[in-house]
Amino acid sequence: MSLRPLVLDLDGTLLHTQPAPGAVTVPGRTRPSFLAGATLDALIRLGRRYDLVLATGRSLAGTRIVAEALESRGARVAGLVVEDGGRCGPPGAVRPLEPHRRWRDLRAALEGERERGWPPFEWQDDFESCLVARAVEREEAAALAPTLLHRARRHDAALRGFRDGRKVYVAGEGAHKWSALQALLGEGAEGAAGIGDGENDLVWLRRVALPCTLAGASPAATEAVLGAGGLVSRAPGHAGLAEVLERLEALA
Ligand SMILES: [Mg+2]
Repeated sequence: MSLRPLVLDLDGTLLHTQPAPGAVTVPGRTRPSFLAGATLDALIRLGRRYDLVLATGRSLAGTRIVAEALESRGARVAGLVVEDGGRCGPPGAVRPLEPHRRWRDLRAALEGERERGWPPFEWQDDFESCLVARAVEREEAAALAPTLLHRARRHDAALRGFRDGRKVYVAGEGAHKWSALQALLGEGAEGAAGIGDGENDLVWLRRVALPCTLAGASPAATEAVLGAGGLVSRAPGHAGLAEVLERLEALA
């Protein structure tokens, strides 16, 4: 990569649940999300001045839809970080960050230990470099998260876990968005600009040169961005994203 990296989270950052003019619809299990037409236009322009890197907790399949929407309109995507850092690379060559891990074996072991009293859940098959259990209700996911992580850590202590809505992630302790960005970008990672909104973005928003977030982001993300002298939009959602992209364009 040769240009300054621009790291872009997807859900709650590039993608919002409100429809927008000229938007690309990104299907979801719970509800669709929208990549606004104005966002696409801005990213096509920004892609000439920055190396665009998508960094998300989504699976590769769930991310490709967005990457292909950008590329089909002429915005070049330089890199992908998917599965919350479990896998990264150029769009055609995404690799696990911790290839030694045997996720299928861990999943089979946990499946064998499933007990009555655990909230119901299904494994999400499109994740390859972490485990994602999807509960029926958010409250059930909240109850499942500590139980599942505790059991998983009996097999391997170097695991981390977190909940995102109805999904519970069990991931490698050393594989997160920041370690994946470092693997992908080398020393260039620290000089990056980027936009993120969630708890799983804190690891990198605190480290890059120009972190940005949107009004309505998680309080911790807003605090991290303000603490680093970054940009926070005035508006939330698509309009807030347009503000930040405009500022980044002026700075480039
Ligand atoms: Mg997000």
